[in-house]
Amino acid sequence: MKTLEMTDKEKTKQVWAKRPIIISGPCSAETEEQVVATAQRLAATGKVDALRAGIWKPRTKPGMFEGIGAKGLPWLQAAKKATGLPTAVEVATAKQVEDALTFDVDILWVGARTTVNPFSVQEIADALRGVDVPVLVKNPINPDLELWSGGVERISRAGIKDIGLIHRGFSSYGNTQYRNAPMWHLAIEMKLRFPELLIINDPSHICGNRDGLFDVAQKAIDLDYDGVMIESHIDPDNAWSDAKQQVTPERLKEMLEAIVWRK
Ligand code: PEP
Ligand code: MN
Repeated sequence: MKTLEMTDKEKTKQVWAKRPIIISGPCSAETEEQVVATAQRLAATGKVDALRAGIWKPRTKPGMFEGIGAKGLPWLQAAKKATGLPTAVEVATAKQVEDALTFDVDILWVGARTTVNPFSVQEIADALRGVDVPVLVKNPINPDLELWSGGVERISRAGIKDIGLIHRGFSSYGNTQYRNAPMWHLAIEMKLRFPELLIINDPSHICGNRDGLFDVAQKAIDLDYDGVMIESHIDPDNAWSDAKQQVTPERLKEMLEAIVWRK
């Protein structure tokens, strides 16, 4: 007898097609309690479609928290079981792709520090051959549309059908208003190059702090983006990475309610 419960794949396809698509969760998975509690509080907002959590963290300097690693993947399974939210994880190597898929991660993303490296993107693409999983490609840290396009093409040539773009801004030298300048025109040109791909904005990594999140998210929606990915944490000030930019699930809800949506 056909069960009425949707499979993970069906649920993920539904989320992928939804507008706006809202992805949220901690910069890093820290403990099982933190991941599950964040997911539950996000689900309780009724406004979040998928749970993100960094398992492997590409930190700029050595000696910092570099992610909990594969042992955090069952925590994401537990969070999904508790809430029904599909999960999303950054992958940077073939082994990470393999581990994420083994533990039923629903959406993968290529991080900004990986999109800059064609060898790494190709390794990920090769590991994805024959797999049906949606992949989001973040812009490279430097404002190079060819690299971003090349990353998308590598994933696409591996046979991945559901590809999306994440615009997380571009790094520059010195103190600036943004942690990563949005350079909106570059994301818009990317969207013109790949009109069939969804484009999500990542205000968290653009702003680097909580203050600018709302304005950046609203601007993205005004520019017809398909959704946002915003980092959230049950105790933002004590987060193990990106503490300054994370918000509680309840603050996220307020922000999402204040945004004027177009889709
Ligand atoms: C992240 O999403 O936590 C992350 C590391 O982002 P980025 O690749 O945009 O720096
Ligand atoms: Mn982060």
